[in-house]
Formats: sequence, structure tokens, C-alpha cells
Amino acid sequence: MKAFAMIKIGEVGWIEKDRPACGPNDAICKPLAVAICTSDVHTVWEGAVGPRENLVLGHEGCAEVVEVGSEVRDFKPGDRVLVPAITPDWNSLEAQAGFSMHSGGMLAGWKFSNIKDGLDSEYFHVNDADGNLAHMPEEISLIDACMLSDMVPTGFHGVELADVQFGDTVLVIGIGPVGLMSVAGAALRGASRIIAVGTRPRCVEVAKQYGADEFISYKDGPIEDQVLARTAGQGVDKIIIAGGTVDTFDSAIRSLKPGGTIGNVNYLGSGEYIRIPRAEWGVGMGHKKINGGLMPGGRLRMEKLGALVANGKLDVSPLASHVFEGWDHLPEALELMKDKPADLIKPVVILEQ
Ligand code: NDP
Ligand code: ZN
Repeated sequence: MKAFAMIKIGEVGWIEKDRPACGPNDAICKPLAVAICTSDVHTVWEGAVGPRENLVLGHEGCAEVVEVGSEVRDFKPGDRVLVPAITPDWNSLEAQAGFSMHSGGMLAGWKFSNIKDGLDSEYFHVNDADGNLAHMPEEISLIDACMLSDMVPTGFHGVELADVQFGDTVLVIGIGPVGLMSVAGAALRGASRIIAVGTRPRCVEVAKQYGADEFISYKDGPIEDQVLARTAGQGVDKIIIAGGTVDTFDSAIRSLKPGGTIGNVNYLGSGEYIRIPRAEWGVGMGHKKINGGLMPGGRLRMEKLGALVANGKLDVSPLASHVFEGWDHLPEALELMKDKPADLIKPVVILEQ
């Protein structure tokens, strides 16, 4: 079968691969539409997860089931499915401990285009199909379904990690597609005031639609100076980090009230250490919490978040800024994500209607 792959660090291209085999609990699917992710850029060009050879790219998309294993109960060939970017082993001890995303080792719930072939091929393999796939509601378009793989669950996980509560003042650092979903999630969770950091005009417009009240540019000086100026020197209750670098944590700690919480979902593709400013961290006693996490993945989360979209509580359609049709557009869509033009939020490639 044909597949679009990371050939080695810094190089992508088309390769031939064998169709994957289906184990008793697995499914084989064909992708209907796929989206490109900033994580692909970190993986391919920054080598952030280390060397990968001939690894099929893609971890965001929706699909049709073509084969299921003998133990799969709830899915059959022909079913249209939502596919989470994170597909844990639900029988693992890590999942039983509540950390499905780390089943089999740290971050090992992230299998597609990391430790096994991803979605960008004629057929792809899904482990633990009953635990990881979700039936695609009829109300959800192929394009919107792609946003449910990673953007909605990750952006919302930032909100969970930051523990946003009714009435909180929330700072969202980074308003690419992930941060935009954090803005939407913080608004759904009842934030009273949302300050957003980012500059791409299209993202700023969409962030307003999702509930951002004020904007800060990281290009206009330190984020913390701007946040403290807007909050009478107090800082904010909660912070979601969905963009920036290892240095962003320094700014976040300085922008946070004592007792506040930071939820990081940013993928730190480079830099060795994260600096925590000692005095602003209350000389070690400020109760300023830092949570960083990969989203949990799995079927229940897909079904619940899918229901938000299907029932009109969350409109993800503004995220898909560039839509292509046909396999040949995959390389172009990936390049677009690397270059990040001003009008880009998320590229989607429809492979089959
Ligand atoms: P984008 O690149 O589209 O957006 C990044 C945002 O951060 C933009 O708003 C950008 O501003 C802003 N930004 C850039 N530099 C700085 C800076 N120095 N300080 C503050 N803000 C800055 O990324 P995505 O939304 O696609 O993804 C966000 C991150 O989440 C990525 O690292 C991605 O790999 C990661 N991710 C994590 C997952 C998880 O499970 N934890 C899953 C999926 C993605 P501007 O508007 O100027 O461009
Ligand atoms: Zn992704």
C-alpha cells in the first residue's frame, strides 16, 4: 500500500508498506480525511522524539473500518469512526492508575506516527478497537471529525490540567488550534475573563469567537509585564500553555497568583531545561502548581467531545483554515504547517467522501 512517511529526520516522502495485520482486539481502517499537526513538524524537522525511519505520518483523522478482530464487539466493516490521536492499551497498569496516555511507558499511549505507523496510508491499524474508536455521529462532517482527534481533546486537556473553575481569570499562552480549543474549553468551564497570547490575525479573530476577552503579543515585551499590568499586579488564577518555548514557563510562573495552576500541553521540541524563577515561585512555597500532560485518548473521551460538536455546543469549523482534496496534497499540507503563514490555523486533506 502507498504511504506518506517520515523517511528520516528532516525528510518526508511516499513509500510502499505492507498492509498491517489485524489482531483479535484490533481494527484495520482506511482514512477518510486527515489533518496535519504542529507535532508532525516537531517530529520530522526538529527530531524531537528521536530518529524515525520510514514511519508513516499522521495521527489526526477519521476513517472507515475495513476489518475487525475476532474479539471486537462494537465495530464492524463499513462503520465510520472518530480516531483519537492517543490510543492507549486499556488493560495496562498505567491505564488502571488513571494515566492511559502513559500505558506501556511515558507517552507510549501516543502510538500513531511515534512508535507505530500513523494514518497517512491506504490502511492503518488501531489497537484495542473497542476502547479506542468511537462511532462518528452523522451530524459531524469529515473535516470537523479531524479536529476531534487531537485539537479538541488536547486543548481541553490543558483546561483540565489548569483546573479552570467558574469565575477564574485565565491566561491562554498560544492560540494556534490547540490554544483556540483551550480558549473554548475555558469558556465552557466558566472562566470570567480570558486573556490570550498570540499574533496571527486569523487566530486572534477566532479566539474572540471562542470567548477570549483580551489579547497580548509576546512580541511586545515580556508576557508577565503585560499580564501584571492588566491585573493590578495580581496575576491570573489559571494558565494554559499551548505555545512558546522552555522559557515560557518562567513567564507563566511570574504571571500566576499564589495557589494558581499551570496546565501545559505544549510539546517542547527543543531546549534542555525549564527555568522556574525562585522568588516568583514563592521561594519554593508559593503553591504555584505546574501540570504538563499528553491528552488521555480513548473512546469515551471521543464520544463525549464528539457529542459536544454533534449537539452544537462546540463549533470546530473555524479551525480548518485550509482544506485540500486528494492524497497528492499531503506533502503540501505538511509544508504549510511548517511554514505557518498568517492565515493558517489547520490544514485538512479529504481523501475519500
Ligand atoms: P501553533 O504553532 O499553531 O500555535 C502556537 C501559538 O503559540 C501561536 O499562537 C503562537 O503565536 C504562539 N507563540 C509562538 N511563540 C511564542 C512565544 N515565544 N511565547 C508565547 N506564545 C508564542 O501550534 P498548535 O496550536 O498547533 O500546537 C500547540 C502546541 O501543542 C505544539 O507544540 C504542539 O506540538 C502541541 N501539541 C500537544 C499535544 C498534547 O497532547 N500535549 C497534542 C497536539 C499538539 P503566533 O500567533 O504569533 O503564531
Ligand atoms: Zn496532533
